[in-house]
Amino acid sequence: MADYAEIKLALEERLAVVRTRIQALSHDLRRADGPISADFEEQATAVENDEVLGALDVASRRDYLEITAVLNRIAAGTYGFCERCGERIPVARLRAMPSARQCVACAA
Ligand SMILES: [Zn+2]
Repeated sequence: MADYAEIKLALEERLAVVRTRIQALSHDLRRADGPISADFEEQATAVENDEVLGALDVASRRDYLEITAVLNRIAAGTYGFCERCGERIPVARLRAMPSARQCVACAA
C-alpha cells in the first residue's frame, strides 16, 4: 500500500486553515460586530461585501468538503486509484493535486 502520510498531513493542515476561515467568514456574515448602518452608501458596500464573503464562504466550504472526502478515501484505503482505469495514480500527481481522481492519461 502506498504511503500517503505526507499528503494526509498536508491536507489536515489545510483543513485546519479552511475551518478557521469558515468560522471567521460566518462570524462576519452574521454581522456579529454590530447592526447594519443606516447610511445608504454604507449599506450598499455592506451588501457587496456580503456577496464577496458569501462567495468566499461557498468556496471555502467546497474546499472543506473536498479535503474531507480525500481524507476519508485515504482512511478507507480507496485513495489514489484512477476512477476510470483503476490504475494507481502516481504519488507525484497526488502531491501536486491531492483531489485528483484520475491518472494523467485518463484526465487528458
Ligand atoms: Zn486512469
